[in-house]
Amino acid sequence: MKQEKVLEVFKRTGALLEGHFILSSGLHSSVYLQCAIALQSPAVAAEFGGAIADQFRDKGIQTVASPAIGGLIIGYEVARQLGVRFIWTEREQGTMTLRRGFSVSNGEQVLVVEDVITTGGSTRDTIVALRNHGASVVAAASIIDRSGGSADVGVPRFSLATLNVATVEPAACEACARGEVAVKPGSRTAVSSKQ
Ligand SMILES: [Zn+2]
Repeated sequence: MKQEKVLEVFKRTGALLEGHFILSSGLHSSVYLQCAIALQSPAVAAEFGGAIADQFRDKGIQTVASPAIGGLIIGYEVARQLGVRFIWTEREQGTMTLRRGFSVSNGEQVLVVEDVITTGGSTRDTIVALRNHGASVVAAASIIDRSGGSADVGVPRFSLATLNVATVEPAACEACARGEVAVKPGSRTAVSSKQ
């Protein structure tokens, strides 16, 4: 699946907005990404999941694991198309853990799947949690790589589309300097950082 096609789906579904945005981190960006909006459509999830699964069909993957909540839908879809089981990790007092009775066996070949990789933190923490239980993490994958390819999770990594979008402090934001109003997606209020 070509990167242009992936981004076209994101734009068509409203999952990728271009403009002047305030991210949940408080930083400003010219791009806003919300995978959940694209993944509302099971057909889109199946298309993305298939494209990721295609990269790993001959890699001996026994299990797909994802960090909750963002990785759940795409991870499950990849597992379904690989014909393997799916488990997830979640944070317990800040530490990524396997809960709900999920287990992995010693040396089990696991693929970690996330929706968006920004710094790679959630994927790295998931890999640590799985290794602590004896799993062998083969690779990691995501729909979008926001890091421009630079995020290092310690295992080979694949993404359907790679973006290199700067996020900046409001004080360093060029759009703000031009007096353009920043928008917080998902809320109705436009917020000007000049206020
Ligand atoms: Zn700004």
